[in-house]
Amino acid sequence: AIEIVGMSKWFGSFHVLEDIDLKVKQGERIVVCGPSGSGKSTMIRCINGLEDFQRGRIVVHGQELRQRARALDDVRKKVGMVFQQFNLFPHLTVLENCTLAQRWVHKVPGSVAIDIAMQQLEKVRIPEQAQKYPGQLSGGQQQRVAIARSLCLRPSIMLFDEPTSSLDPEMVREVLDTMADLARDGMTIICVTHEMGFARGIADRIVFMDQGRIVEQAPPAEFFDAPREERTQRFLEQVV
Ligand code: ATP
Ligand code: MG
Repeated sequence: AIEIVGMSKWFGSFHVLEDIDLKVKQGERIVVCGPSGSGKSTMIRCINGLEDFQRGRIVVHGQELRQRARALDDVRKKVGMVFQQFNLFPHLTVLENCTLAQRWVHKVPGSVAIDIAMQQLEKVRIPEQAQKYPGQLSGGQQQRVAIARSLCLRPSIMLFDEPTSSLDPEMVREVLDTMADLARDGMTIICVTHEMGFARGIADRIVFMDQGRIVEQAPPAEFFDAPREERTQRFLEQVV
């Protein structure tokens, strides 16, 4: 469903992504890891067109992503994204956060949008919080709202960029469980995370990045137990 071929990106003269090749099939679960500054967020952001790139190709569901092409709108409708910061609208209720884009971007009628929002809030197991404001929820609950909000737009691919990194430790589990539920439902997932237990549990493949390159990609068992590259070994010694 996603094909990245020979993709390179520069920030000015800084070569942030070098010759990235990554293929992700529909329903596959990919965990991306690597040291700070290795380009993980930038790569994820390129996949849904939040960043442009200078060389190579990114194809999402057969649509070639190019700067400012109409394809971008189509791709964004199919690709949901959840960030480290939840980015909920503080002045809107949980329910309103979940219906806003449905109504204004996808032109879904109000009562239908509410039904869809409630379904997704049930899926992330917080339907009882629908009338609250984000500030009245815990971090873990806010992140689950952010996931539900994204799911309301019916994406076929979900991108996560360190979704648990700003959470207190006791709330990490509930968000990881929510993502595991999505994985079980067959959602295509690309997740940047340092939660290696989660990676081992749900990933089909781990992608390790360093200095703007994909250094190694392998199924979890192979990646954790028999990493081929020395840089991967050093990284794993630090995080596991
Ligand atoms: P972290 O684990 O800390 O989130 P990361 O792997 O996600 O790191 P990126 O955020 O993708 O790394 O950044 C990769 C490199 O690109 C870093 O050196 C960063 O300083 C640089 N960078 C990121 N955004 C910009 C920008 N808008 N302009 C210039 N340089 C940038
Ligand atoms: Mg990052």
